[in-house]
Amino acid sequence: MATLSTYRTKRRFNVTREPRGKVGKRGHAFVVQKHAARRLHYDLRLQLDGVMKSWAVTRGPSLVPGEKRLAVQVEDHPVDYNKFEGTIPEGEYGAGTVMVWDRGTWRPDDDPHKGLAKGHLSFHLAGKKLRGGWHLVRMRRRSGEKRDNWLLIKQRDDDARSASARDILKDSPLSVKTGRTLEEIAQHKRKAQSRSKSTGKKSRRNAVRPKRKTTRKATKTERKAKAKRTRRR
Ligand code: MN
Repeated sequence: MATLSTYRTKRRFNVTREPRGKVGKRGHAFVVQKHAARRLHYDLRLQLDGVMKSWAVTRGPSLVPGEKRLAVQVEDHPVDYNKFEGTIPEGEYGAGTVMVWDRGTWRPDDDPHKGLAKGHLSFHLAGKKLRGGWHLVRMRRRSGEKRDNWLLIKQRDDDARSASARDILKDSPLSVKTGRTLEEIAQHKRKAQSRSKSTGKKSRRNAVRPKRKTTRKATKTERKAKAKRTRRR
């Protein structure tokens, strides 16, 4: 049965803004999160049995079928994690900036449980950047290795690119969620805001919202103070 216990054990939810999440949401979402941790990598997550099966793709996905990319299987993540874009604080597990680099739906070509068990998962992605068929192939675990190493390989189809074509990682480096760069996410910048500078206009969507926490606390305090004042009268 799917569980998030490993995911939760690794994180302190009073320090990181990553979601605690829960098991149970069924569906076929996929996400790729660009993660500037100690080393930049791309986390591929496929929803199965109410969790996101996850692989850290060290050099990122390639659209070239001949390019096999190492994908280290990591702990299952909650489905809520798909929305997470932000910075994991220094000293915490996975410290660094996370970007929602691609998202959409996935479809297994065969029984995904059998595929995962035997070490060959064939599937199709319908994302903004990644599309078409893919393989995940598990390599034999060598002694001393704690995690399963897989290879992420593009299937040969119309969505594949030749080795001479432009690299998708360089071609499309921005967040599909907010259009931001990793640097802008790290600096908590809102893309739309910096763009609207030239027009001088600020739409409601672009306006900088204060952090919820501060607003809530202030409102509560204000209410109390007001109540006091009223009572005194
Ligand atoms: Mn990661």
